Amino acid sequence: MEPFARIGNNLSADFVNTVVSFDHDGGTLRSANDVVDFLATTGAIAAAEAERLRIRVTDAVAAERFLATALELRTAVRAALTAIERHEPLGNDPLASINAILAADAGFEQLAPHGGGYHVERRHMLDDPAIALVPIARDIARLIATPNAPVRQCAGEDCVRHFYDDSRTGRRRWCEMAICGNRAKVSAFVKRQRAGR
Ligand SMILES: [Zn+2]
Repeated sequence: MEPFARIGNNLSADFVNTVVSFDHDGGTLRSANDVVDFLATTGAIAAAEAERLRIRVTDAVAAERFLATALELRTAVRAALTAIERHEPLGNDPLASINAILAADAGFEQLAPHGGGYHVERRHMLDDPAIALVPIARDIARLIATPNAPVRQCAGEDCVRHFYDDSRTGRRRWCEMAICGNRAKVSAFVKRQRAGR
C-alpha cells in the first residue's frame, strides 16, 4: 500500500497532496485501489465501506471510471485551494466537478429493524462508487464557504503541497520542516556564505 503523507492537516489538502510522491512520478493515486486506500487511511470512509468498494473496483471498467472521477475531483479541489489562497472566485469547471460529487450523495432515510429495535438508515439514490468521494467534496465545499479559511501552499521553492494551518500563531510556512524548512535554511545559509566571500 502507498504511504500517504498526512501533512495537510485536513482531508482536502491531504487529497491534493497525493499529486506528490517522493518514490516515483505520478503521485500516490495511480489506481482505483490507491484511492480506496487513501479514503480508508484518512477515515473518510469506514472499513466496511472500503471493503465493499474494493470488490466493486475488481471490475476493470468500474475501476477506471472511479479513478478518473477521483482524479477529476482532485484537480477541482486543487483549483479550489488555490482560489481560496489567492482570494479569487472558483472557476466554473471545478465548481461543477465538486457539485457533481455532492449530488452523488442524494439519498433518503429508511426505518429498519435493528438489534431488536429500529434505526434510521441512510440509503443512496445512486449505486455509484463516486459516493465514496462525497466526504472530500463536502470538506472542500465547507472550506470554500468559510471566509478566509486558513489554507496555504507550502512556501518551499517548487513545492506544490498545501496545508490547513490551525496553529495558534497561524504562521505555519512549510509542508514539512524536515523537507522544505531545512532546504530553505540550507539555501539561505549558502546565499549568506556566497555574499560573505
Ligand atoms: Zn513543501
